[in-house]
Amino acid sequence: MKNVYMDYAATTYVKPEVLDEMMPFFTEKYGNPSSFYGISRETKMAIDKARNRVSKALNCDVSEVYFTGGGSEADNWAIKGVASAHRKKGNHIITTKVEHHAVLHTCEYLEKQGFEVTYLNVDKEGFIDLEELKNAITDKTILVSIMFANNEIGTIQPVKEIGAICRERKVLFHTDAVQAVGNIAIDVKEMNIDLLSLAGHKIYGPKGTGALYIRKGVRIDNLIHGGGQERARRAGTENTASIVGLGKAIELATENLEEHNKKMTFLRDKLIDGLLKVPHTRLNGPRGDMRLPGNANITFEFIEGESILLSLDFEGICASSGSACTSGSLDPSHVLLAIGLPHELAHGSLRLTLGDGSTEEDVDYVLEVVPPIIKRLRDMSPLWEDFLKKGEKYYDVQR
Ligand SMILES: *Cc1c(COP(=O)(O)O)cnc(C)c1O
Repeated sequence: MKNVYMDYAATTYVKPEVLDEMMPFFTEKYGNPSSFYGISRETKMAIDKARNRVSKALNCDVSEVYFTGGGSEADNWAIKGVASAHRKKGNHIITTKVEHHAVLHTCEYLEKQGFEVTYLNVDKEGFIDLEELKNAITDKTILVSIMFANNEIGTIQPVKEIGAICRERKVLFHTDAVQAVGNIAIDVKEMNIDLLSLAGHKIYGPKGTGALYIRKGVRIDNLIHGGGQERARRAGTENTASIVGLGKAIELATENLEEHNKKMTFLRDKLIDGLLKVPHTRLNGPRGDMRLPGNANITFEFIEGESILLSLDFEGICASSGSACTSGSLDPSHVLLAIGLPHELAHGSLRLTLGDGSTEEDVDYVLEVVPPIIKRLRDMSPLWEDFLKKGEKYYDVQR
């Protein structure tokens, strides 16, 4: 049996070059970066170097990069920190219906604290409507938080245009770029981004590390009170090894962007085209350049995503039926519902995400294994049986 990993949007392995740079910071270079002796200066310098690498990847100043304990933490900090610092000015936040739960659940929490949140709709490919955004902004709006690229269906939002609208209306703009880093060239200045979240473990770095870019001059409350680390905004002795790993990972990810994207796009399109040959399937998310290069998300009508996953696992294929954070729950993906899929179709979807370890053989293997699985599952499905009896009339009944 082959082992094929196609869940890179859930997490990635750590690259050997990344691990190599991290290793000494677990053993001989263990000094506390805040202390005053040789091994401490060394760790402090390593953190400075990592911060410099992150700032280069985003085109910002080193003083605008703050290390966090992951993407979720960066999202929470950006939204709660801006909300509490700007409470006097207003209580209105704008986000979308397709955000990661790290943003959505944070906004829901703030609603309980008296904030008002507008959740923008998306079209059938997952794009927001810029006019709807403009119309949603009021003089009470303090923050717009819109993800750069969607983790489930791969939709890349028009971030530069969103940033321009927010800048013109003098509203802060945060973007969750966890899926975008390493796939899209990012320039926070050109794109008018005020706050940006990223995570190490989606770009071949360690888990539990991330960063928040905070543009100089943005008012935001501190996240963790304590020592002076991260300019006293996020206290606590630095996770030196992981920060070093994040720095190396982001440098590698942005160095090879073009080559990486070419390969990913080729494999992605071969995968999508192959899977769409199975009858009664549909692609979720857009085609082309506005889709993440490694993302395929397909709905197979008449069957359950969970049963596809079990069968794929049996064949050595790691995939996802929605975002990893929601699998285990029976609710259909909020993203698929937001693009207009009815519940039964949202349940029948499969996400396959590619990465640096993916090969054409992997894609061929998936394309060989999936069609018979779908056939077998449909043969057992009462929905399929119903469809065969009613023919096209089935759809009139269902929708
Ligand atoms: C993975 C992910 C997160 C969460 O990052 P963690 O480092 O796992 O906390 C947030 N947003 C998006 C879009 C993601 O894909």
